[in-house]
Amino acid sequence: MMKRTRFALLPVLIAVVTALGLIAPASAAREVDPRPSTEELARKLFDLQLRSRGEVRVKPIGASNQGRPVWSARVGHGPTRLLYVTQQHGDEPLGTPAAVEFLREVGVGNDPHQRWLRDQVTVDVVVRANPDGHEHDWRYNYDPDAEPEFGEAGKGYDINRYHDPAVAPEDNPATEAGLIQRHHADFQPQVSVDYHMQGRYVGDDGREITASLMWPTHPDVAEGPLNLAKQVSVVARTAMDEGGANVSQYPGGDYQGIARNAYGLLGGGSVLIELSDMGAEHEQFQISSALASMHAIANAAADGSVNDVDPAEADAIPPRGEPITAVNARTGD
Ligand SMILES: [Zn+2]
Repeated sequence: MMKRTRFALLPVLIAVVTALGLIAPASAAREVDPRPSTEELARKLFDLQLRSRGEVRVKPIGASNQGRPVWSARVGHGPTRLLYVTQQHGDEPLGTPAAVEFLREVGVGNDPHQRWLRDQVTVDVVVRANPDGHEHDWRYNYDPDAEPEFGEAGKGYDINRYHDPAVAPEDNPATEAGLIQRHHADFQPQVSVDYHMQGRYVGDDGREITASLMWPTHPDVAEGPLNLAKQVSVVARTAMDEGGANVSQYPGGDYQGIARNAYGLLGGGSVLIELSDMGAEHEQFQISSALASMHAIANAAADGSVNDVDPAEADAIPPRGEPITAVNARTGD
């Protein structure tokens, strides 16, 4: 009798536990707005500042061409400095809500892990580097009279081609890139991670690539920062794949104006992460995937385990493979 009762109870228990959300995929853990408006984003950041009792510090690093603040939100006060940048391309939004969740999960609360992490690292996030591009739902900043070498006449500059260390921030024609350059120079991060979105691709094994990443590919990046970028890439890839992602290398160019290359040339471990644009039904998953990478990188920098990673593991990450959709309009980095 006992035995039969226990067998009968098991499926009921599973059903109840599932209904309570105790066993749920990470992507269903917390629905977040994938595209908060500029006003809503500011409200969320200042709410975090308040609720974290100042552990999250929010300030503008300057203003976009249309006068919108470009926000830095900083959490932690440890000696290891990490810079995350989201949404340089206005129509690649999902790194931004992931950053808001990261700031909340690290900054709001006082559990031992949070206190330890904040003692080890300082993470600064440029949250939505391109607010004008977000509002116009396009890749570029807003500078319709410009005739950019990189960008589109009538729209503006491609911010992620204007980080060349040889160009001073005050001479930078792409306003928001100049703001990031200056912010980077002030903060001097050991690690920089730049969040973007790409089209849809399939790996050689037939599985969809949910994200791609890459370290600096400019030939003048020194071995130390290159190896650190590869170590950070392996940490990010491992965490994302453990959450159900399928991460590949990203076939990016070696131009020094791309943030990934520029901040590597300046001596930091600089990494690009591209989330695939897999449609509305996968957005919560992609946000949680980016969030997992943010936590993993911060934790591995905090406990030093990033230094134990063999950089050669990055070279073994598979290539991106072929586009899935016939129309795959997104441009690189
Ligand atoms: Zn991009």
